[in-house]
Amino acid sequence: MAPPFDLTGGVALVTGGNGGIGLGIASALAVAGASVVLAARDIEKTAAAVDGLRRAGAKALGVACDVTSDDDRRNTVEAARSAFGAVTILVNNSGISRRGAAHELLLEDFDAVQDTNVRAPLALAQLVYPDMVAAGGGKIINVASGYSFFGGAGSLAYSTSKGALLQLTRSLANAWAKDNIQVNAICPGYIQTALTAGIADAPALYDLLIGRIPAARPGQPDDLGGAAVFLASAASAYVTGIALPVDGGMLVADVAVRYPL
Ligand code: NDP
Repeated sequence: MAPPFDLTGGVALVTGGNGGIGLGIASALAVAGASVVLAARDIEKTAAAVDGLRRAGAKALGVACDVTSDDDRRNTVEAARSAFGAVTILVNNSGISRRGAAHELLLEDFDAVQDTNVRAPLALAQLVYPDMVAAGGGKIINVASGYSFFGGAGSLAYSTSKGALLQLTRSLANAWAKDNIQVNAICPGYIQTALTAGIADAPALYDLLIGRIPAARPGQPDDLGGAAVFLASAASAYVTGIALPVDGGMLVADVAVRYPL
């Protein structure tokens, strides 16, 4: 019997894999044996990430890709196939946020967030689906959020998109279970990346947030690696449609988590 977490022979496409959570996930998938393809817009950042992965012994490729572009998505899936073979693991990690008061949020901003965070993951899943069926199965991992569950007063567009991404996950899980394709979501809590850089600069907000995390620390991109390898591997062959929080306990926190009894 093969080791359940071994990804040797797998081809993982990680959108937004050139930094932050995406790179944390791509690194873990590579260590587990997968070839990894990083797809993002900033080509210099992508080249640096690919270089780092290769120096660590990984099989890695970078592709310039705006996930909201039909042509870029198609080219990326083709580039992955030419380099390593058909994609067997899709990680929809690219994500953006547009903050603003709910009563004056621009609808253009709302649309842009849904386009990147929901529409692109569906389009990519549709693109890799035929190859996964032909291969006898596959894995799709959507990077959702704690905001899939919380409402977002100042991030309405973002929380709407991440809630929708969970329903996309559950719907595809239902639709494609017959094809042995498992579709799951990871819901990060507060992870220190470029997206959340502003929080550390606002001490009152930072303290409030850490006070709500039972683990009493922010997460780092590497904290997502174990969950991603599990959901990308044979270990999760009978797991589909779940939303796995990786958040130091934030979702289940007691408000008095560190109150001395
Ligand atoms: P980063 O801002 O560091 O990473 C976002 C990534 O998305 C970048 O690699 C960026 O690459 C890529 N990206 C954005 N827009 C596009 C696009 N149109 N096409 C292709 N790639 C794109 O943030 P994180 O690492 O924190 O975020 C990764 C995911 O995790 C996101 O989906 C985010 O919502 C989610 N998340 C993060 C949390 C956190 O606390 N950090 C908490 C919960 C969820 P480039 O600019 O080069 O295109």
